[in-house]
Amino acid sequence: MIKTGQPQQLLMIKYGELGLKGKNKNLFIRQLVQNIEQAISDLPSRKVRSTRGRIIVPLLSADELSPLRERLSRVFGIYAICPVQFATKELPQIQKTALRVLEQALPAGGEFKVESRRADKSFPLISPEISREVGNYIFEQTGDKYTAQMNHPKNILQVEVRDEAAYVYCGSWPGAKGMPVGTGGRAVVMLSGGIDSPVAAWLAMKRGVTVQAVHFESFPFTSERAQEKVMDLARKLSCWQNGEFKVHCVHFTEIQKAIHAACPEEYGITIMRRFMFRLAEKIARSNAGLAIYTGESVGQVASQTLESMYVINEVCRMPVMRPLVGFDKEEIMARAKQIGTYDISIRPYEDCCTVFLPAHPKIRPRLAEAQAMEAGLPVDELLEQALAATKTWLATPEGVSVL
Ligand code: ATP
Ligand code: MG
Repeated sequence: MIKTGQPQQLLMIKYGELGLKGKNKNLFIRQLVQNIEQAISDLPSRKVRSTRGRIIVPLLSADELSPLRERLSRVFGIYAICPVQFATKELPQIQKTALRVLEQALPAGGEFKVESRRADKSFPLISPEISREVGNYIFEQTGDKYTAQMNHPKNILQVEVRDEAAYVYCGSWPGAKGMPVGTGGRAVVMLSGGIDSPVAAWLAMKRGVTVQAVHFESFPFTSERAQEKVMDLARKLSCWQNGEFKVHCVHFTEIQKAIHAACPEEYGITIMRRFMFRLAEKIARSNAGLAIYTGESVGQVASQTLESMYVINEVCRMPVMRPLVGFDKEEIMARAKQIGTYDISIRPYEDCCTVFLPAHPKIRPRLAEAQAMEAGLPVDELLEQALAATKTWLATPEGVSVL
């Protein structure tokens, strides 16, 4: 029960629970509350409460609205964030609160509609009656300042009567949607410094998956600046994953040199990518990962034809997830801009794929040929050496450190 003397403004979080039942639903809500607490942990502490179907975040002062909005907009699982005022569950209190909310939202008057929702079925008025009583009260108190617009209302004054209190609000902010990070298992994402793979990582997180990155670097052919770029991407992505994102940096130079020396140039990319997937799978396994995510999209480059993917994918048994598979480049770029990775991705440093790029990569490689070429390479030894030289970093929004 809400007591008087508490602040009158709160944030009410709506989440998508469609299709979730019983145990799954509780796990979802518990993880979401934990992620919300983590997202706002640098702000003055407060008790985040989970009520039936909603999560309530108390507001300590009006100045907190914008920092809270910023942080909560990066928590997956939230559908909408509603700045609400609450009232005790008596009609006169609800009416007064509704008038105050409307006057704050539309100080100069205007059109509106009241919509009500009675989650507490013991409340004596049904939803349309609540709306009518609230609307009538507003007209009585304000004359012709406000008018009702029932068909296409621009402003909806919402009243929710729940078990513990009534909440009134006008307008809400969109959430990131998806599932809370931590509810979807673990995976690795192959993270280059490009535009696509950070978006793939973000889409994995959006479905609740906790991801760690595997990045292949070819020092000294790739510069420290290239690694810095990947770390900056990782820091950005960590904001969507409870402030933590691990990056395994694999020293890939010796493998590339060995391929370059032993295999026909046109198969260079195919074989290099077979090595990448083998390593990504090993790193996933040693970190309890169950899948590999990549930023591939069919047809984008030579290594992303179906024929290439078939030959490359053959080396791993783990599911390979390609969340961008049907996206056009413009769609990927738009999403990268929205999540804040685009400006980092377009910095001009070279990637290990471009260092040994053949003039005419094979667009339709054949599995038997790739396998025959690899027969001349000490595959296991090369993999082991690369893993032994792998360094793991932890990226947080503030910076990175070696683990
Ligand atoms: P991106 O924008 O993600 O770099 P891309 O269009 O440049 O993608 P490719 O270079 O063919 O495509 O790479 C396809 C995918 O392989 C990438 O999305 C990424 O998942 C993975 N990848 C490529 N290079 C690296 C790397 N150096 N380290 C880790 N993963 C890589
Ligand atoms: Mg790339």
